[in-house]
Amino acid sequence: MSTPIQHDFRSDTVTRPSQAMRAAMASAEVGDDVFRDDPTVTQLEAVMAERFGKEAAVFLTSGTQSNLVALMAHCGRGDEYIVGQQAHAYRWEAGGAAVLGSIQPQPLNNQADGSLLLTEIEDSIKPDDSHYARTRLLALENTIGGKVLSLEYMEAATALARRHGLATHLDGARIFNAATALDTPVATLTRSFDTVSVCLSKGLGAPVGSVLVGGAPLIAKARRTRKMVGGGLRQVGILAAAGLYALEHNVARLADDHANAATLAKGLAAFEQLKVTTPDTNIVFVEVDSTIADDFKTHLAARGIGITSTYSATKQRWVTHLDVDRAAVENALAAVRAFFSGR
Ligand SMILES: *Cc1c(COP(=O)(O)O)cnc(C)c1O
Repeated sequence: MSTPIQHDFRSDTVTRPSQAMRAAMASAEVGDDVFRDDPTVTQLEAVMAERFGKEAAVFLTSGTQSNLVALMAHCGRGDEYIVGQQAHAYRWEAGGAAVLGSIQPQPLNNQADGSLLLTEIEDSIKPDDSHYARTRLLALENTIGGKVLSLEYMEAATALARRHGLATHLDGARIFNAATALDTPVATLTRSFDTVSVCLSKGLGAPVGSVLVGGAPLIAKARRTRKMVGGGLRQVGILAAAGLYALEHNVARLADDHANAATLAKGLAAFEQLKVTTPDTNIVFVEVDSTIADDFKTHLAARGIGITSTYSATKQRWVTHLDVDRAAVENALAAVRAFFSGR
């Protein structure tokens, strides 16, 4: 039998709602949100629109659904969006935009810093010619793989897109992590995007939910598509209440997650068999020497340290979040030290 996970670094999606968050959920005022009668959802949407300096917002079940309805708001059948090879909206969402939206991706390689080269974006925009799909949208992601795209880069990329008549979408699942790392308000960071998708269920610690913000006509289209894909929910204020609680209590503390990730990375980097990338935010990638990778993985699992090594034991991902505190980081590093002291 496998050891239960005690310190869970697999993802910032594993957080459980705190007692205080559950109390906020339990006392939420609710109504039928498909009738727009749920005051707590309406409040969350208003708070998010204001926080991001956009006209409107819509509450969605997940980041995947949020990206899907955004892409379908911008693009019609036979249109194309430019996106990174590593982008969640392209790689990790079961091809939803193609399957459900008949939207063709034009993937470009992400650079080591997560960006797409402006020259490659420009070169990939198709001319108006019946051979080609119509290029309609540039979709970026921030943070991407835990890396932060700078405000300057995002503004240059969106300005380029606009010059060519493209709309712009930001997958900002972890935009509050980027804002924390850059010490810049989210409204400033995202001001040049037409739509932004934000996850409440990652580092912010809510159990469910994402919000798409943007101009009112686009958000109205997204709301219609949300209904089409089965995302029109009823007394969902109990979930919106968790989101409101998270926005109030769990944003400033993201800095703790970044500090814990830095401590973790520093501790891991002490061992030459571990090649550690210095984290910008809350995600630490580690390349493990192949001669020890399987043993190391087994050792950590046996000590209740949960990490992700999806493709192979040599590629680890450690994520810090509100349910792994400084003590969890110290415990994990002690387990790592124990492994290497035995060799
Ligand atoms: C997690 C994530 C999503 C999708 O969110 P789900 O709620 O898991 O569907 C989208 N984009 C990025 C960058 C993410 O990290």
